[in-house]
Amino acid sequence: MYRGTRLKYVSTRGQAPVLGFDEVLLTGLARDGGLYLPKSWPHFSKTEISSWRGLSYQELAHQVLKPFVSDTLSNNALKKIIIEAYSHFSSDTVVPIANLGNDEWLVELYHGPTLAFKDIAMQFLGPLFDHVLTKRGERICIVGATSGDTGSAAIEALKNRSNINTFILYPHGRVSEVQRRQMTTVHTANIHTIALQGTFDDCQDAVKALFNDHAFRDKHNLSAVNSINWARITAQITYYFWAALKLGAPDRPIAFAVPTGNFGNIFAGYAARRMGLPIEHLVVGSNSNDILTRFFSSGKMEISDVHTTISPSMDIQISSNLERLLFELFNRDGNKIQEILSEFRDTGRLEITANVVKEASQLFDGARFDDSETKKLIGAEYKRSGYLLDPHTAIGVAAARQKRRHSSSPMAILATAHPAKFPDAVENASGIRPELPTHLKDLFIRKENINVLKNNLNEIKSFIEQRINI
Ligand SMILES: *Cc1c(COP(=O)(O)O)cnc(C)c1O
Repeated sequence: MYRGTRLKYVSTRGQAPVLGFDEVLLTGLARDGGLYLPKSWPHFSKTEISSWRGLSYQELAHQVLKPFVSDTLSNNALKKIIIEAYSHFSSDTVVPIANLGNDEWLVELYHGPTLAFKDIAMQFLGPLFDHVLTKRGERICIVGATSGDTGSAAIEALKNRSNINTFILYPHGRVSEVQRRQMTTVHTANIHTIALQGTFDDCQDAVKALFNDHAFRDKHNLSAVNSINWARITAQITYYFWAALKLGAPDRPIAFAVPTGNFGNIFAGYAARRMGLPIEHLVVGSNSNDILTRFFSSGKMEISDVHTTISPSMDIQISSNLERLLFELFNRDGNKIQEILSEFRDTGRLEITANVVKEASQLFDGARFDDSETKKLIGAEYKRSGYLLDPHTAIGVAAARQKRRHSSSPMAILATAHPAKFPDAVENASGIRPELPTHLKDLFIRKENINVLKNNLNEIKSFIEQRINI
């Protein structure tokens, strides 16, 4: 049993107030521009982790999440939220695991309502927000940027919650049609989408700017559901424990390969390791937006233009959650993080010292695959095993195969989306057009509501002020 004191949260830039879990949930980005992290990592012994074998996904989530939320939720409240969160998944086990042979395993995170792994955290966030807001008698306005999947997952999780207005910014013309329709065909009064004329990074910058405008932020009680929100990361830690336990942990070490964009998903793996799970290797898979791959091999980060690819949820140059890892690598020195990130902002470059790169590369590796390599893998894997991979997951598989260190340890690859979420790319690569599951069969005939806005902060602000309505 976890016996720590009630966990508090600190900002990676060291200047924002120390907060409890409910405040971190509602705050999103810290006031000093940093991201929240637990003040210390909860830790579980090997015996405790072993004792969780055989638990259901929901029971395991309860064990893993408890230490993070204990200052905010009673055991009973946490249990209820978890049960509601995972009641809308089409698989009884929530996260099934498929064998590709050669001790390679696909951790299928895509059985939620919007067919991407984001549902796992977002379906948890919906009832969690509801609980916390009801208890505090508050309303919030959520503003989020999406490269496609976060937006639909947030909208699905929040669409009928009367204490939450939700504004989602997505890059106009740069998300798949399924992704767009999942966002623009939900017509409840509290859901608003903005098709921004720009890239995902522009959307993310606009959201950050809204949060840094403290007057606007306070007036509308802004809150975030991007992966900068710590509560999302906590919910993602569960499936690392889930997969590892199924594959023989904690008695044997496990490697994970993760198709990566904003570094939120893979950071949850890092967190699981800090909590005692024997993860020996974390492989970052990138598309041609390969800033992270270059970072893990050289310690240098240099921004270039965002490339549009067939894995749009990874078309990102600035991976926000990397800040959390940097904070750990620099021994939690908030001033140092402030310094290197403001330099990165100003110059588009960042370089960390060789010893820090070396430390990071003991655990992390990065591998990059362009669209043609990704398509080739989708086609080849379909022929070989009959498994139809979505383009994001295919990058995870390719990265796992290129960087695997120990053939004696299982390699778990996070399958982050259902192939039917990206039907054109998958058909083009494999000749097979994946079908949408039953609950989404009529998606292409649902009425859409699209609001195109210029990449201009004042326009975005006035749109929000006009639409806020509850
Ligand atoms: C969001 C997303 C990713 C990237 O996850 P991060 O947490 O941003 O690294 C990968 N694949 C899919 C399908 C996604 O939706």
